[in-house]
Amino acid sequence: MDFKLYVRDIEDFPSKGITFKDITPLLKDAGALQQTTKALLELVGDAKVDKVVGMESRGFFFASLLASQLNAGFVPVRKQGKLPGDTIGQTYALEYGSDTLEVHKDAILEGERVLVHDDVLATGGTAKATCELVERLGGVVVQCNFLIELDFLRGREKISNYQVRSLLNY
Ligand code: AMP
Repeated sequence: MDFKLYVRDIEDFPSKGITFKDITPLLKDAGALQQTTKALLELVGDAKVDKVVGMESRGFFFASLLASQLNAGFVPVRKQGKLPGDTIGQTYALEYGSDTLEVHKDAILEGERVLVHDDVLATGGTAKATCELVERLGGVVVQCNFLIELDFLRGREKISNYQVRSLLNY
């Protein structure tokens, strides 16, 4: 299946100069949704996984589908102030300013094997902060898994100490 046929470029969203990779055409097609989940699972291979961490918000879709297939739990990483329980936070730099991601303190147990998934790897700041949250809770990151990698932003270099796998490269 040519998955790229189901990814739509939206120019200047959410701000001027950004080409947004819109995955809703892929999500709404039953066959593409199933095949994408299968292909992302193949990237994981035989690795044993206890928890799949998905990043707010488009990381949630496939992270939960992967968790279900891997017989693992799903853990959301969210923007500051969104999670209701006790959290830890990790702040990371953006082009202008900074952002903070949070995870529930009890979401991952010491030694658990964690698959990190997001829809897009861009500059890598989100993925790096997420891996740091996982490790602060005692988890072990077995792979950073992405549907889309924007090669020209070189996000992979920021998370070079982890195994990084992407389904589609641009
Ligand atoms: P970054 O931290 O720069 O790697 O950005 C990754 C996060 O921002 C992911 O959660 C993506 O959903 C989102 N993102 C960044 N760039 C894009 C893009 N061009 N199209 C869609 N989502 C993007």
